[in-house]
Amino acid sequence: MQGANGKGEPAKDMASEAYLRQLRETFEQLPNDIPLLLFVDRSRDNVFAQATRQVIRAFRELSQRITLKEYDLAHELARRYQVESSPTLLIAPGKYAIRWLGAPMGEEARTFLETMILVGSGRSNLSDQSRNVIRRIDAPRRIKVFVSPTCPYCPQQAVNAVKAAIELPEQISLEIIDIQCEPDLANQYSAQSVPQAFANDILIGHGAQPEEVFALSLQKLEPQTLFIPESDAEQVETDVLIVGGGPAGLTAGIYAERSGLKTAIVERQALGGQVATTPVVENYPGFTSVGGKTLVDIMVSHALQYVQIFPGEGVLDIQYGSPIVVQTSRRKFLTKTVLLATGANHRPLNVPGESRLAGRGVSYCSTCDGPLFKGKDVVMVGGGNSAVTEALHLFHMGVKVTLIHRRDSFRAQEFLTRQVVDNQIPVLWNSEIREIQGEERVREIVVFNHATQHTTTLPTDGVFIAIGYEPAVELARKMKLDLTEDGYIKQDGRHRTSRPGIYCAGDVEGGYKQIVTASGQGAEAAMTIFEDLINPYWLQAR
Ligand code: NAP
Repeated sequence: MQGANGKGEPAKDMASEAYLRQLRETFEQLPNDIPLLLFVDRSRDNVFAQATRQVIRAFRELSQRITLKEYDLAHELARRYQVESSPTLLIAPGKYAIRWLGAPMGEEARTFLETMILVGSGRSNLSDQSRNVIRRIDAPRRIKVFVSPTCPYCPQQAVNAVKAAIELPEQISLEIIDIQCEPDLANQYSAQSVPQAFANDILIGHGAQPEEVFALSLQKLEPQTLFIPESDAEQVETDVLIVGGGPAGLTAGIYAERSGLKTAIVERQALGGQVATTPVVENYPGFTSVGGKTLVDIMVSHALQYVQIFPGEGVLDIQYGSPIVVQTSRRKFLTKTVLLATGANHRPLNVPGESRLAGRGVSYCSTCDGPLFKGKDVVMVGGGNSAVTEALHLFHMGVKVTLIHRRDSFRAQEFLTRQVVDNQIPVLWNSEIREIQGEERVREIVVFNHATQHTTTLPTDGVFIAIGYEPAVELARKMKLDLTEDGYIKQDGRHRTSRPGIYCAGDVEGGYKQIVTASGQGAEAAMTIFEDLINPYWLQAR
């Protein structure tokens, strides 16, 4: 990005200076020291150890509260703390049992920052609802969260675990494990996709969970999908509640607040939706080429200047009325209008072995899980822009990828398909996966070729699936909104659904499904809502 000074200096300088100033102030106000103990095998000092030192050095420049002592893995303290891997970072070991195996780089720097602040404050910052659940734990919980630096979902789950470990240090210990640094440990747990959380060696969460759902899974020692808050949950009043923090929701938030409407956005998973895991975006105006997550970060920072965002909060129920009552896993929103910008969920292949081996070699996110397959053989299923973009991403990170497509030509744009040819990425045309096989993890696939009518077995370490998306219409269904024949939310051309006061935007309403069109729909929907709140069309119709 070019600076406004016309000299080509990075425009981010001023913004990052302000951000660093704010961080320094935050650290200054923390009441507690943050001692870090780093254990490294100095006879085999590796890139992860060097990266960890670098990250900690950067953090120590922010605050003198952070202190670092480094020991060799052979030191007697390593034995005392039962440290066996290099690098291992113990965080305030006198108070908490939180350790990091690997380097807190990339997306994980966010987790590390939040951990430093929570440890320095001495408070877990859990919601009242989560705290009540964690406080009911009366036996040890040894948590392991597997993460990767390229996974935008991971910080949410890792921070959930950090908060739990800070809330109940007498019972809860935590290891945050970078799968790239600790592939053997990841293999031992068959953790081939991130994030995955285990407690006492039992899988309690696959993917990022809302905080309360994580707390309940940890307490019950089995994965939960739902958390019903207690009745004294907080209430928030809004003019517009936006469900979904992808490009449509974020843009609508900016437009609605700028129109003077009190607005909030709730997002149960990663902000940015599908864009957060898109390796590279090359068709969003203003950016010739930008990482999906970088684009999301820019959009989120922009939206946060106007609108309050509640991440990690899933909507459980919407009761239609005046006001409309939206119950999330944490609080109740009393709102005049709701904008459903819930996007779409990845489409499953629906073949035997797929769900059993999900996270065990079957993956829907090359950005998150690709690094674990460097040097290995994987297949990428699909023939659209997603499959081709992601196959190229895997190829460039050193994964041996083969595309499998059910037709004899791609649906993806010519610009992308040319790169498949140029890079000599193998393609199995006219082919469909009939079964994914393996015991603990993916070992092979059964492939049927339509042209030859032959069925063959192909050994592979991973199956990446990018065969499109299905609109996320669970809430719309619950509210009995009209849907189109293709299953999208039906709207009147101005983003009004079949129920007054309920609107939609983005992939959930169909259309071109591009980032720029989703943003456009979000802006339009916010403007319609503004006009309708001034001049309610549903009252005129009476
Ligand atoms: P898509 O465009 O719907 O393509 C899905 C692909 O998966 C198609 O090739 C389809 O085959 C195949 N497929 C569907 N069901 C299948 C099944 N059961 N078994 C095997 N193959 C199956 O989906 P997408 O690639 O995820 O893209 C979604 C939207 O995002 C699109 O609008 C796309 O343009 C957009 N997008 C844009 C970019 C970009 O502009 N750079 C990047 C990513 C996504 P058929 O061809 O036989 O139908």
